[in-house]
Amino acid sequence: VLTATGAFIYFSQKDLYPGEQLDQDPKKKTIVVLGNGWGSTSFLKNLDNEEYNVVVVSPRNYFLFSPLLPSVTVGTLEARSIIQPTRYITRHKKRKCAVYEAEATDIDPVKKTVTFKDASETNETHKEVTIPYDYLVYGVGAENQTFGIKGVKEYGCFLKELKDADRIRRKLLDCLETASFTGQSEEEINRLMHMVVVGGGPTGVEYAGELHDFLIDDLRKWYPEIADKLRITLIEALPNVLPAFSKQLIEYTESTFKTNKIDVMTRTAVKDVGEKSVIVQDANKNTHEIPYGLLVWATGNTARELSRKLMGKLPEHQTNRRGITTDDHLRVAGAPEIFALGDAVAGQYAPTAQVASQQGVWLARTLVKMAQAEKLKEELNQMRATGAEPADVERVVKKLNRVADVPSFNYSHQGSLAYIGSEKAIADVPFFNGSFSSGGVATMLFWRSAYISTLYSLRNRTLVMADWAKVKLFGRDVSR
Ligand code: NAD
Repeated sequence: VLTATGAFIYFSQKDLYPGEQLDQDPKKKTIVVLGNGWGSTSFLKNLDNEEYNVVVVSPRNYFLFSPLLPSVTVGTLEARSIIQPTRYITRHKKRKCAVYEAEATDIDPVKKTVTFKDASETNETHKEVTIPYDYLVYGVGAENQTFGIKGVKEYGCFLKELKDADRIRRKLLDCLETASFTGQSEEEINRLMHMVVVGGGPTGVEYAGELHDFLIDDLRKWYPEIADKLRITLIEALPNVLPAFSKQLIEYTESTFKTNKIDVMTRTAVKDVGEKSVIVQDANKNTHEIPYGLLVWATGNTARELSRKLMGKLPEHQTNRRGITTDDHLRVAGAPEIFALGDAVAGQYAPTAQVASQQGVWLARTLVKMAQAEKLKEELNQMRATGAEPADVERVVKKLNRVADVPSFNYSHQGSLAYIGSEKAIADVPFFNGSFSSGGVATMLFWRSAYISTLYSLRNRTLVMADWAKVKLFGRDVSR
């Protein structure tokens, strides 16, 4: 305990009082980093920025540990436990970085400039600024896919940002309180107590699992009169949920959901969304109306407006409508000074946190190598100008060749994990030449420890573990 406390105190000191930093240097190249999600944050964490001026632009000033976001919607975790201010990272870099809470609105790949506007909620003027870049790290992610279905944005809740989780939590509790209100009709209670999740990818499945835990652990305690009326329905257009997982884990998830009384409607697509009901079409092309109290929309991602705008400026190179096309060195096709990573890219990799963070690490190392190569080139020019010994020149040339030889980005899949409720998780982990699938309580412990160790800071790890302990002891907080 003493050691643990000691370690914690040591960490806090360092965290509160970061050391001296070098000033920005106009002679150095400027890297503008757009976004602070998995890709950009991993890049920032791993970059040795001695040779660069770094400017970070993102509409939110923190990194969000998105895999644990479903837990925030029912109060298993507190929102602040899974975020980390970006300034905590930049303040510990060798050279000072500029961080702007702003939304990028335009990129000019010819003039090499980026335009952004202040994302302040209080400042009405929203000042717009254009700055030049030498390299642009494009990690803006993607936005929620609605397939143009009417009513989704208005009545559905997405599960991407912190504000989405907060909105779901408020709506869920509003449904429970309204259903408990005196004199409600049976029909209205049934509607309010029906929670519908659209999309059977990992997001939808994890959300349905968390909701089930909330029902079992807390609803029966705090809302005993209506608890048994809660129904959870997961609607998926394809023949099964979790298409990216192994057959065995799909079956395990579907049977766990059956036991947990989560209705899974496969081969069913939502066609229209109203304020209180959705219209679905089943495999036989018949349509039905399903009343709901809370609607969570988790049907995947699509390219952001900014990405479409950038692609429109490079029409010969950017033809994939799903997102940005890059080469195997993450350079945007048609704009080699822009490196794109994470969900903004439509390529051979799935849009996952794991891919984005590995790309961030690779890019940080690559840009350091590029700076080293520039320095060596300058050194060579000087040596040649001053007539240095051929052996010395040869030595520097060899060094330059070594540094300039940057291997392409290669993704190494470490496995997929998902929490499915009732203290069970599933894992698809590569194992020698095959893959190892497992599901159950032991996997849940593995899921917890894997997520705890991937959390970026000791502060977040402590907060998440404390939240888990708190919920075990006192249950979830149902205040709205
Ligand atoms: P997804 O794209 O994986 O799944 C969306 C699902 O919605 C699809 O199966 C699709 O068939 C279904 N769908 C689309 N339109 C529909 C409609 N109108 N009616 C009914 N169903 C419809 O989306 P996601 O779950 O948000 O995941 C996005 C990415 O993030 C994926 O690459 C995923 O692997 C990753 N992710 C991973 C984890 C994890 O590993 N634990 C968690 C969350 C997200």
